[in-house]
Amino acid sequence: MPRFFKLSSHDMAIDLGTANTVVYLRDEGIVLNEPSVVAIETLNGVKRVRAVGSDAKLMMGKTPDHIQAIRPLRDGVIADVDVAEQMIKHFINKVHDGATRFLRRPEIVICVPSGSTTVERRAIRDAASNAGASRVLLIEEPMAAAIGAGLPVTEPVGAMVVDIGGGTTEVAVLSLRGLAYSNSVRMGGDKMDEAISSFIRRKHNLMIGEATAERIKHAIGSAVMPAGDGDKLRVKGRDLVAGVPREIGITATEIAEAIAECVSQIVGTVRMALEHTPPELAADIVDQGIVLTGGGALLQGIDILLGQATGLPTVVADDALICVAQGAGKALADPLYRGVLMQA
Ligand code: ADP
Ligand code: MG
Repeated sequence: MPRFFKLSSHDMAIDLGTANTVVYLRDEGIVLNEPSVVAIETLNGVKRVRAVGSDAKLMMGKTPDHIQAIRPLRDGVIADVDVAEQMIKHFINKVHDGATRFLRRPEIVICVPSGSTTVERRAIRDAASNAGASRVLLIEEPMAAAIGAGLPVTEPVGAMVVDIGGGTTEVAVLSLRGLAYSNSVRMGGDKMDEAISSFIRRKHNLMIGEATAERIKHAIGSAVMPAGDGDKLRVKGRDLVAGVPREIGITATEIAEAIAECVSQIVGTVRMALEHTPPELAADIVDQGIVLTGGGALLQGIDILLGQATGLPTVVADDALICVAQGAGKALADPLYRGVLMQA
């Protein structure tokens, strides 16, 4: 069908994550999944966007002085409003193939952390409005995650989701379209990357960049101690003593040790949530178990560890990285879930 006829399909849901932005387009599903990174170039005092998303992430840690790769949402809320707005605009245009000007302005659902303040929510709403939305609706991230994971959020049944992102981990208990409990902590994949960097610096006198630390985590990171040394990996960086590039070998056991404190904070947050859950809902969670979403849910063994720490069945949602956007998209498209959307 020519684009001309698809007026309704421009409404969208955006999971504006600290690490990744995922966009769901009505009638089409997930159409974009890119790092929340913007590269800004300053020439003669004038700033302009040089690259956004995957292209900008490739530049991280490698930019010359006049280019800066920025993550506008780093700690879970908009840290740099202007840059965030540029990023949203860029992604909306990309999804629309540049055809926005000729069509009715889209209705946009945006996911917000459950703990975000009115001021932070307003910043997000303004960024989306300025980026071209006719109406902005908000959905709390844990709610979107739960809907995306297929949990029975419209029924009087308690369910628990733990969304582990780049900047934050959100734990929530949901029932009847609402959050019965929620807590957000500034702990997630980024802190694990930092912990890996500083461990390698201390133990091996080797400086590595953020991107390398993340690659190490993906390759051999684990929430549980591997048997023996576990897998091994060669890592390149700059020798702190000699000041020259060097390559070393590291083990999965070392990396598990490096991120142990981060992981245990996540476990602690989940246990605290369980302690604060009303008894009837707690009883439901015993049956339903815990569902993990977000990229951090893909850390090897995190489900096993949380299962052991709580005694509850714990599973990683299918498509953990796009679960939140899928849930927000479902809330936009399916009248059953309309009640969970909030006016911005
Ligand atoms: P956000 O919602 O904050 O944008 P995401 O849900 O997209 O975050 O998750 C991104 C985080 O998940 C990053 O820190 C990334 O390194 C981490 N991640 C992604 N895949 C894996 C994996 N296989 N193992 C461990 N961490 C992972
Ligand atoms: Mg997220």
